[in-house]
Amino acid sequence: MTTSNKTVYIDTVGCQMNVLDSELVIAALKKDGYSLTDSPADADVILFNTCSVRELAEEKTYSAVGRVVQHKRRDPNKVLGVIGCMAQKEQENVRHRHPLVDLVVGTGQLAKIPELVRTVQETRQPQYALSLGRKDAGRHEVEASFESYDPARDPEMRPTPFQAFVRVQIGCDKFCTYCVVPSTRGPEQSRHPDQIVHEARVLVDQGCKEVTLIGQTVNSYVFDHGDGRRTRLSDLISRLHDVPGLERIKFVTNFPKDMTNDLLDAVHHLPKVVKYLHVPVQSGCDEVLKRMKRLYTVAEYQEMLDRARERVPGVAVSSDFIVGFCGESEESFQKTMRLVEEAKFKNSFIFKYSERSGTKAAERYPDDVPEEVKKRRNNDLLAVQNANSLADHQAWIGKSVSVLVEGRSKRDQRTNHEPTAVPQLTGRTMTDHIVVFDAPDRVIGHTLTLDIEDASGFTLFGRVRTDEVIGVTGTAPPTMAPKPRRIGLSVV
Ligand code: SAM
Ligand code: SF4
Repeated sequence: MTTSNKTVYIDTVGCQMNVLDSELVIAALKKDGYSLTDSPADADVILFNTCSVRELAEEKTYSAVGRVVQHKRRDPNKVLGVIGCMAQKEQENVRHRHPLVDLVVGTGQLAKIPELVRTVQETRQPQYALSLGRKDAGRHEVEASFESYDPARDPEMRPTPFQAFVRVQIGCDKFCTYCVVPSTRGPEQSRHPDQIVHEARVLVDQGCKEVTLIGQTVNSYVFDHGDGRRTRLSDLISRLHDVPGLERIKFVTNFPKDMTNDLLDAVHHLPKVVKYLHVPVQSGCDEVLKRMKRLYTVAEYQEMLDRARERVPGVAVSSDFIVGFCGESEESFQKTMRLVEEAKFKNSFIFKYSERSGTKAAERYPDDVPEEVKKRRNNDLLAVQNANSLADHQAWIGKSVSVLVEGRSKRDQRTNHEPTAVPQLTGRTMTDHIVVFDAPDRVIGHTLTLDIEDASGFTLFGRVRTDEVIGVTGTAPPTMAPKPRRIGLSVV
């Protein structure tokens, strides 16, 4: 690694894929001698890793780029880049809106960033690196234009050193009519299981205890070895289960129709696998699901939910919903309300439909639900979900849970404590429930047993057993002390 004082600033919005991509881009730039800065004004390279799922995310990025353009005007040697989903979707529009942008790099081309930065510095010419559109060529060629980007990992970029995302799959082939992801992330491709297991071992060597396997439809993961052997997600997590030092395995996001019994049984039987499934249903109305092209009916989803709860006793399930999708009548929406009431999700992420150019929904169906109706439906659904979340949380009072301690709670990050005061920490249970509790920083990164004493709709409140804290020896290494998140995580 070369040493210099070149700096890079990165702003990340969007899903876990983007968080991971930013970690990897920064690791690659560090090899080129860059260090990370929190200040765009001081950075030699300013990157925006972007999301296109909803229009608001794109507009926020355009505004954020507009705010840093002043730094580039002052110092034309700075390199300004828009990377990720929006770069792939918007292409030259990015430079139409902000002509001072030097780099437009899609999700499938991120490995080229260090080289492209050098090219901009040498030539002062803007650089584009984009993958093919889904209809631009045959499947093989389009697949090849989206590289899975998984080089060296950089623990410093992770919110905590003991947790990491691991990509098991890129792209998506479901083509839900509202969604840009199949275009921005390309065809579905599963990574070789040997690579994934190797990566998990490297992460464990770096101090990682929990991996979250990520894919747009992670449970459709299947690697075809070409000799008749196929590795399914259940096989992969069984292999990862054998990695010494790894304590927890999670996976997101699941597609309802691909929830097979072998996977549910693996979740049930493998003790390191978190008993939590994120399986978005999107709507409780069959007609809406059909227009969304979700490939299942409400009854099929409910059958999957019953099967999951039967095969994995105690499993927590969460969902995503889109309200105000094209043609969603009040009656359709009430069906969604009923589904949420009955399904008892641990939590739900609720989004107002946002029309995205280039999608089938934008071509076929008018965005005909007024904004104020979308807002009202969003609030109504949230109220039902919040009541269910509170009831779910209250049922934990009096129970003991095992929690991986993640760091200071949000409240504690905001307040300045007396050095002697015991901070409030946060962690997650094996069912992905968030617990806050008072304990010294040295337990961050450890797994503790907590007694749950109270609950709100958002969190459980726990008390650490004294013998557990005494049992955790040593002080937290500097990387485990609370630090500001360098990468903004906003939406799902
Ligand atoms: N692959 C995952 C799946 O199938 O559930 C999720 C991917 S998507 C990035 C995350 C969530 O964003 C979706 O589950 C959906 O609820 C929401 N979403 C996607 N496109 C949207 C749109 N055009 N408007 C509003 N919400 C959208
Ligand atoms: Fe988008 Fe549907 Fe693929 Fe999820 S499954 S990424 S919602 S197209």
